[in-house]
Amino acid sequence: MKLQSTSGRLIPEYLPTALVGAAEMYTRIAGSVQISNRAISPDLKDSYLQDHNSELLNPIRAEQAAHYSTTSCKPVRQYWKSQKGGPPIRDQKGKIISGPIDRRCYFLVSEIEEFVKREMPTKLPDTSPFIATDGNPFYPHQLLFLQPSRALIEDRNGGIVDVTKYFSVGRLAADDIILQLSGKKSGLFDRYGETEDDKKLSLNTHSLRHLQNTELFRLGITDAMITKRYGRQSTAQSGAYDHRSLREQILELELPPEASGLPERLHDTAKLMLTRRMRGPIVEEFLEIQRESGDAQAFRYLAAEADGFHATPYGFCLSSFTVDPCPKHLECFNGCRNLTRTENPVEEQNLNQLLDRMEQHLFEAQRRPGDSPGIRNQISHASTVIENLKLAIAAKPGSQVFPNGHDLARPIDRPATVIDTAIRSQQ
Ligand code: SF4
Repeated sequence: MKLQSTSGRLIPEYLPTALVGAAEMYTRIAGSVQISNRAISPDLKDSYLQDHNSELLNPIRAEQAAHYSTTSCKPVRQYWKSQKGGPPIRDQKGKIISGPIDRRCYFLVSEIEEFVKREMPTKLPDTSPFIATDGNPFYPHQLLFLQPSRALIEDRNGGIVDVTKYFSVGRLAADDIILQLSGKKSGLFDRYGETEDDKKLSLNTHSLRHLQNTELFRLGITDAMITKRYGRQSTAQSGAYDHRSLREQILELELPPEASGLPERLHDTAKLMLTRRMRGPIVEEFLEIQRESGDAQAFRYLAAEADGFHATPYGFCLSSFTVDPCPKHLECFNGCRNLTRTENPVEEQNLNQLLDRMEQHLFEAQRRPGDSPGIRNQISHASTVIENLKLAIAAKPGSQVFPNGHDLARPIDRPATVIDTAIRSQQ
């Protein structure tokens, strides 16, 4: 490849005036190591394909050469016969002769090169350099991973490519890289992993894009710059790639000057509310006051009302418990309007665990014989909780899970039976 890049030629290991046998040129241009009618011995083939050690191509070549003859040269003959506009066939002295192709036939290297450039433009090797950021060229032959270009012999036809002779080598295309890193059998990790655990690794290449976005956000680069760097239309698209933790995002936010009188313990709450990561009756009220009477009034309201901010195992709760603790604490999932889901994956685990348990409970209750009020109550309760849990699991981060639910912190205000699912399904 290096020689190809510097000389501009396709088979630079030969002089342009050299005459080279048809079989050798077949392997150089088509890639296949099989030149005779005899199939490659399965033993030789298997041992080579195990790790593609190019040393193991030697016995295959020797076996093929031993069987290559005027009557045993079908692959070579068929290949050259099928090439439209192919180069003239010559004898050992360079005189043009007519076919059929057999071991007496030769090609002039310069004529083969012209033919390939003219008739096989998509098969040409990758020789053009990139220009690196320092302005210097960076050639494909300097890359760590290369592969035979469009070598269908191995992938499609079950043959073997002679990688030491095939003229066309190129960079890996994006699809090849994705496939190799995807963790498939005989992919990069499987082949080169040092330990068994290493071999099981995989990498979703698109996640690198997410990682880089997140790091840029983390370093304080503006979303406008990040959006421009990735060629996106709007900053909202970049937001989808921001995976900083909620804490990191909150630390970066600044409250407006009107919030200066807000007690410090409420700063995070205010930031969550202003960025719509928290919902609930107090938030709605705050936003309405902010809309109608401005920031100063809204923050005054917040200082008076939102004295509570709690992280529950299922999301945030903004209810105040300065007088009494929540009587339904740890039952937020059962229709409480104060519950807001966050991006914390543990919440979903907790909710899923509860769902499994509750479904098991319902199953057991339904299996019990009889139809007593106790069993009916158990079934009804479990069914309601299951429906509510499903709603909580499906709720998006930052959303109020049960906007029409009850305030479970104030049990007196609500009816005895919680059927939030009925309310939700009517919406
Ligand atoms: S049940 Fe409602 S009020 Fe009680 S802690 Fe959970 S979300 Fe808050």
